Amino acid sequence: MKRMFCALSLLAVATAALSADLSNYPADRWGRHPVRIAVEKHSDVYRLSEQGVSIENYRGGWAEAALSDAKLQELLALGWTVEPRTREQVSPDIVAAYHNHAWLTAKLDSVHAQYPAITRKVSMGTSVQGRQLWAFLVTDNPTVDEHEAEVRFAATIHGDEPVGTEMCIGMIDSLTQCYGSVAAITDLVNSREIWFAPMLNPDGNNAVNRENANGEDLNRDFPVPDGGSNGGYVNGTEVEVTSFINFWTGKRVVLSLNFHGGALVANYPWDYTYTLCPDNALAREVSLGYSRLNSPMYNNTSAFPDSGVTNGAAWYVVRGGLQDWSYHVTSGLDITMEIGNTKWPSAGTLPTYWNDNRASMLYFIRQAGWGVQGVVTDSLTGIPINRAQLDVAGIAKPVHSDSAVGDYHRMLMTGNYDLTFSKPGYASKTFANVRVKLDSVTNLDVQLSPILLSGTVTDSATALPIYGAVVEVVGVKSDTTDAAGHYSIQAPQGSYTVACRATGYETRSVAGVALNGMVALDFALGGLNLFGYEAHDTINIPDNGAWIVDSIYVDRNVAISDYRAYVNITHTYKGDLAVRLFHPGGDSVRLHQRTGGAADNIVGWYPDSVRPADSLRWNAFYGQSALGWWTLRAKDYASGYIGRLNGWALEIFSTQTGLAELPVERPLPVRTELFYSRPNPARDQATISYQLARPGPVRLTVYNVAGQAVRTLVDGRCAAGHHSVRWDGRDGRGERVVAGVYLYRLEAGGTARTNKLVVVR
Ligand SMILES: [Zn+2]
Repeated sequence: MKRMFCALSLLAVATAALSADLSNYPADRWGRHPVRIAVEKHSDVYRLSEQGVSIENYRGGWAEAALSDAKLQELLALGWTVEPRTREQVSPDIVAAYHNHAWLTAKLDSVHAQYPAITRKVSMGTSVQGRQLWAFLVTDNPTVDEHEAEVRFAATIHGDEPVGTEMCIGMIDSLTQCYGSVAAITDLVNSREIWFAPMLNPDGNNAVNRENANGEDLNRDFPVPDGGSNGGYVNGTEVEVTSFINFWTGKRVVLSLNFHGGALVANYPWDYTYTLCPDNALAREVSLGYSRLNSPMYNNTSAFPDSGVTNGAAWYVVRGGLQDWSYHVTSGLDITMEIGNTKWPSAGTLPTYWNDNRASMLYFIRQAGWGVQGVVTDSLTGIPINRAQLDVAGIAKPVHSDSAVGDYHRMLMTGNYDLTFSKPGYASKTFANVRVKLDSVTNLDVQLSPILLSGTVTDSATALPIYGAVVEVVGVKSDTTDAAGHYSIQAPQGSYTVACRATGYETRSVAGVALNGMVALDFALGGLNLFGYEAHDTINIPDNGAWIVDSIYVDRNVAISDYRAYVNITHTYKGDLAVRLFHPGGDSVRLHQRTGGAADNIVGWYPDSVRPADSLRWNAFYGQSALGWWTLRAKDYASGYIGRLNGWALEIFSTQTGLAELPVERPLPVRTELFYSRPNPARDQATISYQLARPGPVRLTVYNVAGQAVRTLVDGRCAAGHHSVRWDGRDGRGERVVAGVYLYRLEAGGTARTNKLVVVR
């Protein structure tokens, strides 16, 4: 047996573990060892799971798994009894009697050809080896999504468990052939959307293998509800699984099952945790409903005492199964339906299987449409609401309405329930004490009222509508007024600030607007006066140099309601630049802060066409007086590219008109700076720019690298401000200087600055 712990065996483990001989354990073609592990009591199964063993089956006192070298070594070292296991051998004759993928494809095509009005064949995707993963729908109006419960039968996710595929084919034949002649079947086809996914692992089926062509167990490959890893397989999600997920995520399957072989039991969620699922009672009940109609399953109480059904994890833990994904993500209750102890029985037994499962499958189809159902629509428009949520008080598992007709379907144990319907943008609605039964249907259509803010924006002076005004439920949503000045915004329930702005008008905002239904809110905006100013100064921005500054005088003493700033800067790498706008009071806002990388130039109006770096601070100037010197400052933080301010402009909006006022005193416009010459390198001539903080004597001289003065360009008094001087590349005697590096030096106001210039010839 196993787990014979004593000091001696532990010692043996320590020395022998790494060298245990695995030659008695043949490996499959993916290097894993199919084994069975002796289990003394059921709790050992849980211990195996906790040790990271992905169990394939647990029967007759043995847990079956396929182990890596390391995991096998680990179990042997811990003293578990592990035996090599030969997977069920299937003779080619038996295999040939079952539908393989090609035969299944032809079968589905022929059924559809015969019953086109009630069937549809769809591909969910392709397998690793390129086989189509078929989904097949049986319903009236198969190309139209109707107010009908969806039910799904899936099979052969384990390639060597193909009986479920035959059960699917049997039910497809039964439904199509009896449609129109057997009332009960006709009714089910008309009132349900009955889906089949009859072969989820065609490559594994082709190879008579459990796994897909990459050696992955697809029923351990789905996302686990807790977000953790799945059964220890490593390849990542397989294409068969992603195709399945993509196809079914948007659908609203109510009830589904996935056929397996190797055991005889209906296994309900959860598989991944011992915690009971929110719908545990219901999950057990529909499993029992299946079992009661399948007498071998129902009577299989020696293996499964609860009438042939079991909670998944209570049997053995599976991480990454289809069942848990389906219930967790789509709310569709999925049952892992193990329909026989033999995985691949001889074809002669299939009629018996069909007899055992036919009534159970019909029960599933009926059951999916029982409980409470209805259509959720918008109370104003009547349009179906997609993904409206139904919460049942006391059951932490919402279901959602479908997109096309807004239908929802919720199975419940018979009882009285409080049902709450919700959807962002609508007022929630609760129906108290609704009687719902497990074996019949309660119809409850629901109209949800949109939470809608609407109104009109007008000019306060003329009362005319303002077209193009933006009304915003701040942080949520905005709308732009139409020609009649109307806006409407649908938003989630809550209390909000609502702001209204229009170019040329004052901005208004109202705080604490409670949105809980239809709310009307009109705005009458006062028109603003516009004062415009421009500066056409051209100023070089020195490479990796100091801030350059340019000023505009605003001559109106008016309170700022809003403002716009136009900037035109040429630069071939704007990620080097920072640009700031200073209000006369000293407050500033960053327009540009070293963003944009290698892109060229900053040209446009802030904040309309260019977003300010400090967009949240834009309104910091609001309410302040506009009067005085506004300054724009720019700085180049890196070397290698140079740029130039070509001009800028300001637009001030105000409810006031004010009077034009002349500047009393102009502040120091600039600091003394020497800018880089352009072009550089220079061939025949270069322009050297500098600016002066105050008037005074200036000397600008060109030197060679030996420190000898070559040419004096400026020697005299200059005004404050910006100056440029051209050098023709000649020395004091009028001779062209030789190619090379030259320095030019500015002496002014008691300081000196030097830059470098290259002359090429
Ligand atoms: Zn299976």
